[in-house]
Amino acid sequence: MSLTTTAPRLRIAAWQPASMLDWPGRIAATVFVSGCPFRCPYCHNPDLVAPGSAQDSTPLLELLAVRRGWIDGVAITGGEPTADPGLMELLAALRDMGLPVKLDTNGSRPEVLERILEERLVEMVALDVKTVPERYDALTGVAGSAEAVARSVDLVIGSGVRHEFRTTAWPGSLTIEDFPRIARALAGGERYVIQQFRPERTLDPDAAAVLPFSADALTKAASRCEAHLPTTLRGVR
Ligand code: SF4
Repeated sequence: MSLTTTAPRLRIAAWQPASMLDWPGRIAATVFVSGCPFRCPYCHNPDLVAPGSAQDSTPLLELLAVRRGWIDGVAITGGEPTADPGLMELLAALRDMGLPVKLDTNGSRPEVLERILEERLVEMVALDVKTVPERYDALTGVAGSAEAVARSVDLVIGSGVRHEFRTTAWPGSLTIEDFPRIARALAGGERYVIQQFRPERTLDPDAAAVLPFSADALTKAASRCEAHLPTTLRGVR
C-alpha cells in the first residue's frame, strides 16, 4: 500500500516514535490501539479499555516512513488491537513499507489472529495467558474467554511465528500452583514470561489492594515452569 492511497482508520490512542521496552532487543515504534473486550481488574492501561474514535492513520504512517531507517519495527499494543476492524489493513500497510511488526494480544479474537498468521502479517506475537481455565471468565468478564485464548495459543504455536506467552501475576486470579499448570498448557511454545503485577494503576481500584506475590515465590514458580518451556520473570525485584 502506498501512502497516496487511503490509509486505514483505527482507534489509535497514542504512539511512541521509538522505544526499547515494547519489543525486547529491538528499537521499535509503539502504537496503542484503544478498545478491549476484557475487563481485567488489574489492567495497567485502564484508559485504553474503552474504545476511542477511529483516527486516520496517515500521520502515523508518514512518521513511520520517515523513521524507517532508524527503527527495527513496530509494536502494536492496546487495549486489544485485534478488536479493531482496521487492524488488518494497518498490518498490510506496514508490511508494504517493509516494517516488521510485533503484535500484543489477549487472544480474545482467534479468528482475527488466524488470518494475521496465515497472511504472515506479523513477525512476533506476545499473547497473554491470564489464568487457569476455570477462573478465566470471572477475571475477564467475558463468557468463553478461556476457550478463545486456548485456540489462540494453539494457532500461535502451530504457526511457527516468533512468540512469547505472558501472565501478569495478579494474586486475585492466580495461585502459585497455577503457574506450572499454565506452563504445561503452553508446552511446545517458545517462551513463557511471568510479569510482576504493578499495583500503582489498575482498572478496578480494589485490585490495587491485592498484595503481589513475593519475588521468591515467583522465582520458584518460574523454575517449575521450566519443565514445560523456557520461562523468564519480568519486573520482579
Ligand atoms: S489487561 Fe485486560 S482489560 Fe487491560 S487491555 Fe489487557 S486484556 Fe484488556
